[in-house]
Amino acid sequence: MVGVLALQGDYSKHVQILEMLNLEVLEVRYPNDLSLIDGLVIPGGESTTISDLMTRVSFHEAIKIFAKKKPILGTCAGLILMSKNISDDRVIPLGLLDISVDRNAYGRQVDSFTDQIKVSLNDNIHNVSAAFIRAPKINKVGSNVKILSYYNNEPVVVKQGHHLGLTFHPELVKTTFFHNYIFRKQFEINNAA
Ligand code: GLN
Repeated sequence: MVGVLALQGDYSKHVQILEMLNLEVLEVRYPNDLSLIDGLVIPGGESTTISDLMTRVSFHEAIKIFAKKKPILGTCAGLILMSKNISDDRVIPLGLLDISVDRNAYGRQVDSFTDQIKVSLNDNIHNVSAAFIRAPKINKVGSNVKILSYYNNEPVVVKQGHHLGLTFHPELVKTTFFHNYIFRKQFEINNAA
């Protein structure tokens, strides 16, 4: 079963994508819910708000422990929360991706856009749609982080261990590629091992 952190933001869109992939889904609201799931999505939304709501129920420590063994997909605000350094100290980082990020680096809501990006994975190039909405920019990447996609020379898809971070929203343009990869494919590999 895959969990979607359901504190704020567009978590219901991620639930739809996971259901399209025939995965069982749980909306995660309390740290205890993490014991029921095999992977977690941290959705887009407002990272300052999600961080505050996480602090209230001590989610940070619980997610860090969960992340040692289980995969996490972070999109937009979710990627901001997963990173190590954030340009806004109101957001408490989880430090799961060794990256530094600038919030709202593309400008305001009116500067949001959708485009095709190219993702390199397992020696193949995949074309996928991506919606950039008040997206962050990744300005520093640690040596243990793989960059799977660039858009205008900026890293927009990063992978560290079993975690994946996207600066955009795949779920708003019905892109199932990343959820399929991180939850279906990685689970299959783990189950086969
Ligand atoms: N700008 C938002 C933030 O910093 C992220 C936007 C999004 O998730 N679409 O939290």
